[in-house]
Amino acid sequence: MNILVLNCGSSSIKYKLFDMPDGGELAGGLLERIGEETSLLSHRAGGRKVRVEGKVADHREGLKWVVEALLHPEHGTIGGPSEIDAVGHRVVHGGERFTGSVLITPEVLDAVREFISLAPLHNPPNLMGIEAARELLPDVPQVAVFDTAFHGTMPRYAYLYAIPYEYYENYHIRRYGFHGTSHRYVTLRAAQILGRPSEELKLITCHLGNGCSMAAVKGGRSVDTSMGFTPLEGLVMGTRSGDVDPAVIPFLARAEGMSADEVEEVLNKRSGLLGLSGVSNDMREVERASEAGDERAKVALEVFAYRVKKYIGAYVAVLGGLDALVFTAGIGENSYRMREMICEGLEVFGIALDHERNRRTVGRKEGDISREGSPVRVLVVPTDEELLIAKDTFEIVRQEG
Ligand code: ADP
Repeated sequence: MNILVLNCGSSSIKYKLFDMPDGGELAGGLLERIGEETSLLSHRAGGRKVRVEGKVADHREGLKWVVEALLHPEHGTIGGPSEIDAVGHRVVHGGERFTGSVLITPEVLDAVREFISLAPLHNPPNLMGIEAARELLPDVPQVAVFDTAFHGTMPRYAYLYAIPYEYYENYHIRRYGFHGTSHRYVTLRAAQILGRPSEELKLITCHLGNGCSMAAVKGGRSVDTSMGFTPLEGLVMGTRSGDVDPAVIPFLARAEGMSADEVEEVLNKRSGLLGLSGVSNDMREVERASEAGDERAKVALEVFAYRVKKYIGAYVAVLGGLDALVFTAGIGENSYRMREMICEGLEVFGIALDHERNRRTVGRKEGDISREGSPVRVLVVPTDEELLIAKDTFEIVRQEG
């Protein structure tokens, strides 16, 4: 069964075509700058790469480009649209309603629309992708896989904020968590690597990319996660502050004469590694600057590592122990220096790195980087959210069929 996985952003469509159940990747690519003067499609299939430039007005037209690339007589992989058996969509917010992936029906679409109020930047492009796919491939089943779903198992005391309860009831203000597909993928893979069922494992998963979040996973279920009502809470990220005292927001608004939206923009776009270092939001550049003696870059790395370390301590307490600490995403998979900084001094929890193995495990390599005999395994697991979306889509379509 050929499954097309779509991840639609405000001006982009990321896609992969999988052969399921094998999980083989037949083709993939990225269409960027939708709605701008010149859009760019980078398509790859069977070891070949193609770049096409042109004007793509919206997601509907964008999806046509994607399907044309998949059908192309030279670099295409399928003979006709009928060879796309199902489409799996990444959808950011599933509210409290969706704790798993679902077949897209008109009711599901209405719910995704309703959750725009909770994810005003992300759900609208996800919705555009779904609508475009339903139009272009009307007879093909479509599945929604939500970023929030994996954290739907958090207990009430972990997801409620201590603010007047009616704000939860009236506005659904609570912690939701994101990156759920990635946390779920590495949880499943970590259990395979450890050779134990996930039902009996206590894991802390660290997704450290441009966006960063951690999850405490007990028996295969997320019991806490560092992102909250929005992806702004928790860890230090490329441009996001993560946790701050909420009183900083009105203080800044008064001090700088900014509106609430402007302060939110500062915390989302001008903070994190970028804000602290003044160098970049990119970990590689911040590491380079720190090595060259830049003090602000150095302190940005220290704050980043310290925040992760604090959450590890908190989650060991939440889980009542720990079997494995799992690193994933751009920084987690590649920055052995950051992994070293995070794990330093955590022997008290049974966490100890094998420095040689740690240094060798970079570039989308999977591995156990813990010291021989240390009680907690430290794993690097390259994430693959698209593959998990394809698997969910395959399972749901097979059950429906
Ligand atoms: P996204 O969240 O957008 O998917 P990624 O998971 O690709 O992002 O992570 C991007 C981050 O990973 C950037 O901060 C980048 O600097 C970092 N990164 C990628 N490769 C390396 C590396 N070799 N060393 C350090 N950091 C890296």
